[in-house]
Amino acid sequence: MTNKIFKLFLVIIFSISNSIYAQKDSIRIDVNLDSFADHLYKIKIKIPNIKSENILDIKIPEWTPGYYQLLNFSENVQNLKVTNNKNEVLGFVKTNANTWRIATNQSEKITIDYQISAKDEFIAKAYLGEKKAFIRPTAVFMFPEKFLERPISLTIENSKWKKIATGLDKKGKNYIAKDFNQLYDSPILVGDLEELPSFEVKGKKHFFKGIELGDFDRKKLMDDLQKMIIETTNIFNDIPYEHYTFISIGKGNGGIEQTNSTALTFNGNSLNVEKSRQKILNFLTHEYFHHFNIKRIRPIEIGPFNYSDKNKTKTLWVGEGLSVYYEAIVLNRAGIKSKEVMLEEWSQMINSFENNPAKEKQTLADSSYYTWEDGPFGKKGETISFYEKGPLIGILLDLQIRISSENKYSLDNVMKDLYSIYKNENRGYLEEELNAIIKKYAGDATEEILSYVYTLQPIDYLKYFNNAGLDLQNQNGKYQVSIKKTLTKTQQKVTKDLFR
Ligand SMILES: [Zn+2]
Repeated sequence: MTNKIFKLFLVIIFSISNSIYAQKDSIRIDVNLDSFADHLYKIKIKIPNIKSENILDIKIPEWTPGYYQLLNFSENVQNLKVTNNKNEVLGFVKTNANTWRIATNQSEKITIDYQISAKDEFIAKAYLGEKKAFIRPTAVFMFPEKFLERPISLTIENSKWKKIATGLDKKGKNYIAKDFNQLYDSPILVGDLEELPSFEVKGKKHFFKGIELGDFDRKKLMDDLQKMIIETTNIFNDIPYEHYTFISIGKGNGGIEQTNSTALTFNGNSLNVEKSRQKILNFLTHEYFHHFNIKRIRPIEIGPFNYSDKNKTKTLWVGEGLSVYYEAIVLNRAGIKSKEVMLEEWSQMINSFENNPAKEKQTLADSSYYTWEDGPFGKKGETISFYEKGPLIGILLDLQIRISSENKYSLDNVMKDLYSIYKNENRGYLEEELNAIIKKYAGDATEEILSYVYTLQPIDYLKYFNNAGLDLQNQNGKYQVSIKKTLTKTQQKVTKDLFR
């Protein structure tokens, strides 16, 4: 046996033992939907191979990534019962709001039975009722704290509905997740679902599945989404998933991003009016953009997640704010949003921020850090929103980078760098690392632009707008952005590329 073959032999032995190990360790979860009339999920979780543990802490998350509020999912856990492989009932104590400590009695394997009360129809929570089951996994599935990394096999038992939408892959009858993080990142909708005609981008399939979608041109929506996805993936020159699913759980206009899906509420009737169509496509673009910006380009504080507590970061102006900025950019490149509408949306963004008296009370970094306390919509008159001020920083950065590089570079390069560096390193960015990449492209202006993130200093829009060939009129607090009539060569390049 040569050294090379011996090494190969070792690799094979190692992979075989590894896969046996994985199977032996795999956690099985059964979720039963039959008590839909009582809004009760019945869950059974089987955890094997725990003999070496004397005690096992079982937890349920208290929040769901993407929605930065504690939602106290532990309050919905009912009738918890733990048994072992000999069918003995095991005792447990609750050590805090979301932890149940089990005395394992040297058992080989344990089964946890419990119910989840799921009455709230809300995108960040779980719901079960007459019309559908929306499994928000963080709100439904408990996890053994020590075995968050184990693979999971999930079955959904229900006698009522036939169709299921999720980003999880299937193996036989079971859905599989490589660990609890992937499971928590994969919402599941069960019901009488409609599936819109799917499309491919760069060989990857994209689906739109949902309930009560409304009356609209299905083909046109999917054509628009395809164009949007082509333009978004062109920025990053990558498409880092095997398939992607938009999961529409009912009427509304909210959403939470995942790595290969987004769960959203949606009213297709609104697509028939151009103004609201633009709003819906903005929002779908935003959710899609997130699978790059925040799921993969993420602040180090939010991932790996602490599912039990607040995960505070000062950089949601990037994760959320720049995802808002790119809504119009992407749709304009895709030929869906005209430059006139884009300029109008910029004007509105400036209006709503500049007319909020809280702009003198809270910094952008603090609006991110304290969102857990201030609430998803902030406190009126007291706080600002990173959804509003964040994209304004996006505007300044993009204009500055384009002007100083004669339009050779743009904010796209910052996003692309962040993506490739932290995807390779498989970790989140530190604030100083983010700022260093911004500085690489925005140069000397970085300090001033970042001062708008960390201080209350009024934004000097005119400086950046004038340099780029844009005009900003302010009539009694109503701002209007337009492209100047006379432009230098560089300004022509910039405005032509930015507003297509
Ligand atoms: Zn968002």
